[in-house]
Amino acid sequence: MADKLIIFDTTLRDGEQSPGASMTRDEKLRIARQLERLKVDVIEAGFAASSNGDFEAVQLIANSIKDSTICSLSRANDRDIARAAEALKGANRARIHTFIATSPLHMEKKLRMTPEQVLEQAKQSVRFARNLVGDIEFSPEDGYRSEVDFLCRVIEAVIDEGATTINVPDTVGYAVPELYGNFIKTLRERIPNSDKAIWSVHCHNDLGMAVANSLAGVKIGGARQVECTINGLGERAGNCSLEEVVMAVKTRRDYFGLDVGIDTQHIVAASRMVSQTTGFVVQPNKAVVGANAFAHASGIHQDGVLKARDTYEIMRAEDVGWTANKIVLGKLSGRNAFKQRLQELGVQLDSETEINAAFARFKELADRKSEIFDEDILALVSEDTVSSDADQYGFVSLAQHSETGERPHARIVFTDSGKEVVAEADGNGPVDASLKAIESHVQSGAEMVLYSVNAISGSTESQGEVTVRLQNSGRVVNGVGADPDIIVASAKAYLHALNKLQSKADRVAAQG
Ligand SMILES: [Zn+2]
Repeated sequence: MADKLIIFDTTLRDGEQSPGASMTRDEKLRIARQLERLKVDVIEAGFAASSNGDFEAVQLIANSIKDSTICSLSRANDRDIARAAEALKGANRARIHTFIATSPLHMEKKLRMTPEQVLEQAKQSVRFARNLVGDIEFSPEDGYRSEVDFLCRVIEAVIDEGATTINVPDTVGYAVPELYGNFIKTLRERIPNSDKAIWSVHCHNDLGMAVANSLAGVKIGGARQVECTINGLGERAGNCSLEEVVMAVKTRRDYFGLDVGIDTQHIVAASRMVSQTTGFVVQPNKAVVGANAFAHASGIHQDGVLKARDTYEIMRAEDVGWTANKIVLGKLSGRNAFKQRLQELGVQLDSETEINAAFARFKELADRKSEIFDEDILALVSEDTVSSDADQYGFVSLAQHSETGERPHARIVFTDSGKEVVAEADGNGPVDASLKAIESHVQSGAEMVLYSVNAISGSTESQGEVTVRLQNSGRVVNGVGADPDIIVASAKAYLHALNKLQSKADRVAAQG
């Protein structure tokens, strides 16, 4: 029987650390449910000790998800570990993932600790964690740039203390495949008790090699767990992408000889959910989940594909969940059809009230747009999680005028803490005028660092999905909004970003 490759998803922890990608508790639960449907082995749900919000999210996911192991990150100290264990109490299977930096640079400059102190603290924390939870993962942060002899001592010691998974992060994305694979191989050969733990890889994509490095860690190094995120979401250039690693191992099973438990038919739905929730749009030429990943645009290819699919296709689009923009619902679709489609998309709404509210918005959209695609339904539902009663600002209506040769003017009505506000402004274009109108009342002073519009399902009849990234006193947030009218979508996205800026999120940053 072939070995199994464990898929450890960290979209909700490492992915969420990407500036602007922060998610609410409900958004995280929705994504966790999609990860469970994907049959992800381990879900890293957050870093429980970093903030109350993170603690609650880990707790909620641990209480709700039953098929995957739920993991919380934790620094190597008793307080963090106890907090993680508490958040994980309701989990069917819980894992604590504790980390401490072992590279000379990180120990000296960041931790201000000697190597002996780091070794001692690593041992103590794993010992402490092991008394609370049976499944312990240990990561030497910046492991790839650590000195091998010292790293061997640390890893041998934590395995002795009961660590069951050893993860070797390339925290800064410096590795190249052959060297990284050999690095893990060397560690496994030199550490006497290395066979008592499962070895894991965690690679960042700064040089575009996160997937290649992870696969080399598996093939050359013998690692049996890959840490990854949906769409490769993550800080800077991101993490290793789940869909690419999984499809590489499946498509080239002849070479890797490993089994993965992932139900690949839910990959595209998971990708869409993560991009619509975070506002991080997937590039069209992205492998597996990009809009062009399976399009055979060039004439020669089309001819080849028509004659025999496998001339140019190494994977089948339907195996990863592409449904080819199928029209799923329309104006006449009833509540049951809507509810059923939500279930098929992996969206679980928790109460009848939520379903009714979503269905009302669906009907409203169907009045304006004759064909409703899966993407529209997902956008509609993520908008539901996006707006909550606690929000300071809410969109009401918008009128704008633009004509060649004239300066565009917008008049917007929105709520500020429940009270309606009317604001007007001119701008370079209708979107600019609308956002300036909002800002004339709100006066957030936030700097806009990104604005993007994306047609959800391809044509001009589709909904526009707008992402607005705002920066204010060191915080970066993404707002998303969807509407058939892109100016309205822009205003919604801007208000969403402002709401996120209002909600305080002080948390401890983790690398790893
Ligand atoms: Zn990382």
